[in-house]
Amino acid sequence: MFYLPTRIIFGENALKDAAAHLALGKRALIVSGRSSAVKSGVMSELIPLLNELNIEHKIFAQIVENPLTSQVIIGKEVFLEAGCDFIIAIGGGSPLDAAKAIAIAAANDLSEDELYQLDLHEKSFPIVAIPTTHGTGSEVTQYSVLTHSKTKKKAGFGSDLNFPQLAIIDPRYMTSLSPKVSLHTALDALSHLLEGLYSLSRNEHLYPMIYRGIRLIVDNLSLCLREPKHLPARQALALASLYGGITIAHTGTTLQHAIGYPFTSAFDIPHGLANAMFMNVMMEFNQPNIEGIINQLFEAIKMSKEEFYHWLESFPIQIKVEISDDEEERWIDEILGARNIAASPRVPTYEELRTLIHSVKKGV
Ligand code: NAP
Ligand code: ZN
Repeated sequence: MFYLPTRIIFGENALKDAAAHLALGKRALIVSGRSSAVKSGVMSELIPLLNELNIEHKIFAQIVENPLTSQVIIGKEVFLEAGCDFIIAIGGGSPLDAAKAIAIAAANDLSEDELYQLDLHEKSFPIVAIPTTHGTGSEVTQYSVLTHSKTKKKAGFGSDLNFPQLAIIDPRYMTSLSPKVSLHTALDALSHLLEGLYSLSRNEHLYPMIYRGIRLIVDNLSLCLREPKHLPARQALALASLYGGITIAHTGTTLQHAIGYPFTSAFDIPHGLANAMFMNVMMEFNQPNIEGIINQLFEAIKMSKEEFYHWLESFPIQIKVEISDDEEERWIDEILGARNIAASPRVPTYEELRTLIHSVKKGV
């Protein structure tokens, strides 16, 4: 019914509470983005703790947004050359996903093109995940989403080997997020929670957690944007994001995610925003096939669908982009070929997908 091999330590000062579980090896590769591991305050608390525990470390702070397969291979080389035996990943979904792929690449000596070949993934190294955004829930999922450095195609892979062994979630680390990243990551979490209901692999035992997560976002997102240091509001969004991660670890994502990937690759539209752009149209598109589930959701969160749409539209998510006919054709093929389509409650025809894309196309 449930499978989640990650020890989760949540709340203010979670790192201190996790100290007894942190020594997953003797030498850690710290994988992060360029600045958020420091800005969030994680590094100033982590390094003294590692010293206290006699854990050596090497820092690899080079992961950019939408991590590239080529960066994973550089990370693998640094990991092996430094003689590391586990990874501490700090940041948003980008460093966390890259860390999972570095661990797999290092353990199985994979090349860039072999990263997606699951049959070559025989083992991995342990991972500690410390999220600094409240979006992806990657700290508790088996997925790693990478962009291929040559084709620029964004795609994920998932295997039980990818689950972090330890997730340390402290909302204090998220108070330094900009309003934009706060908004986009919370909408990504919202998307995961909704997709847990849409997915053909939906699990009714998760519904109470999904409803609670959605309500936490509805009740706290505006407050968090107005008052970025409001800790109870951040804590609520961090919890919703964790719930979203636990949800998709069981249900996978759907067309809602697949349709956003080409927009992120082509226009650098942040992942959460790419999901949010399609959130209303996707609910309408899915509704005929899952009417009861949608009605049950709005009953449970004590809100009508219209009120939900009204709330969602109060955020700047109405994006229109210039899309050439060529791009449109290519993306339709790419989206229909995406792994996440399989769990969608309604798989669009070619023409239906074109209509969905047109909802964000300039001049249509
Ligand atoms: P992200 O790409 O990891 O980070 C976005 C930006 O926020 C970066 O500039 C980052 O800076 C900055 N940032 C992060 N934490 C910060 C903090 N506390 N204070 C200030 N700045 C901070 O964003 P994300 O939305 O969390 O991750 C998106 C990626 O995750 C996408 O590639 C998406 O496809 C993937 N994803 C994965 C899963 C999964 O289950 N594995 C699920 C959904 C999405 P730095 O560059 O310095 O780090
Ligand atoms: Zn997502």
